[in-house]
Amino acid sequence: MTTSEAYDVIIIGGGLAGLCCALHLQKYELKILLIEKQSYPKHKVCGEYVSNEVLPYLGWLNIDPKAHGAVPINQFEISTRHGETIESGLPLGGFGMSRYALDTLLYNEVVPKSEVVIDTVTSVEFQDNIFVVNTQSKKSFQAPYAVGAFGKRSILDKQMDRKFVNERTHWMAVKAHYDYSFPENKVALHNFEGGYCGLSQTETGAVNACYLTTLKSFRACDSLEEFQQKVMSENSRLKDFFENAIPLFEKPLTISQISFAKKSIIEDHIFMLGDSAGLIHPLCGNGMAMAIHSAKLFSELYLKEIRNKNGNRDSLEHAYKKAWKANFAERLRTGSRIQRLLLNNTAASFAYTAVNRFPSILPYIIKKTHGTALV
Ligand SMILES: Cc1cc2nc3c(=O)[nH]c(=O)nc-3n(C[C@H](O)[C@H](O)[C@H](O)COP(=O)(O)OP(=O)(O)OC[C@H]3O[C@@H](n4cnc5c(N)ncnc54)[C@H](O)[C@@H]3O)c2cc1C
Repeated sequence: MTTSEAYDVIIIGGGLAGLCCALHLQKYELKILLIEKQSYPKHKVCGEYVSNEVLPYLGWLNIDPKAHGAVPINQFEISTRHGETIESGLPLGGFGMSRYALDTLLYNEVVPKSEVVIDTVTSVEFQDNIFVVNTQSKKSFQAPYAVGAFGKRSILDKQMDRKFVNERTHWMAVKAHYDYSFPENKVALHNFEGGYCGLSQTETGAVNACYLTTLKSFRACDSLEEFQQKVMSENSRLKDFFENAIPLFEKPLTISQISFAKKSIIEDHIFMLGDSAGLIHPLCGNGMAMAIHSAKLFSELYLKEIRNKNGNRDSLEHAYKKAWKANFAERLRTGSRIQRLLLNNTAASFAYTAVNRFPSILPYIIKKTHGTALV
């Protein structure tokens, strides 16, 4: 096993949270190591609608998604499982961009200044105020601070024996790109028995279709195709989509064991960012913004507490936990309430009637699950 030189911060996971954290800290000449298990570019199961709240911060990090083809989105459409539809403007708006392009855009800005290792982290030890991070290829790296940005579920969650990994989850998700005629400025959320499917355009003109469903609903069918035809296509919007859309992936990407359980913000002194700290229900379309925002929160506090005040781990841990809860706890709770409501037939039908009668409720609900512009 080799032990390399020390870094200021080791970031585990190079999705949006990890990459933005690296970009932020490297601006201050810190020695950063980012370890990501998959090489770039890579597709990822995600709705690929990003809230505009992150644009000012991404600009500060020297990232301009619109210059790389991101599609501006300002309209939202939601349909019940019976195809009844409501449309609304999006208070802040957003953009459509594939994770294939967005993560790579960030990665290309990180590599000139920070070290990026493509490897899987298998364990993390904390002793005498130093982290030792071990990887699958038998390398080990050291730093006084470690950031966990390894997403919804990782072998590290098991290694750390985090409470949520032992709880049963019944969610799975599927995503693929399609050739389909769909308005450029719109994101749609179409409900079906046991789940919902998001549609929006990406920078290539392809339409991303990403759905979340309960295993119970899915198990009634033998294949994704059968599920799409029998269960999802009960909604006329999805019927039209699956009848006319031409798949652009050889086969869709799937993930399972998605957990929306509460997670610890700091685990064995590791600062958790993005989905590693908590996953908001995807229907809110705000998980990516939260991941990016958490990178900003951590980086600013790290610079304030450690760099400027010469290091106090306790005060940084306290400050990060407090900031995380103040910014995200209520959003997660609201997302959870909306998801429960949409998946309950009677409640969803009541909500549809209410929103139809008082359309201003919808932008209000959207605002409750989103933040304000990150400056
Ligand atoms: C079905 C679905 C639809 C969604 N739709 C949207 C949407 O439309 N809009 C939105 O804003 N959000 C959406 N989200 C949420 C969004 O995808 C996440 O919130 C976001 O990706 C979180 O970013 P992250 O950086 O925390 O994690 P990730 O982007 O998952 O990155 C984690 C990284 O860590 C790496 N990793 C994991 N384990 C290890 C290890 N042991 N060693 C090294 N690397 C490791 C992974 O390879 C990965 O690259 C959706 C989520 C789901 C499930």
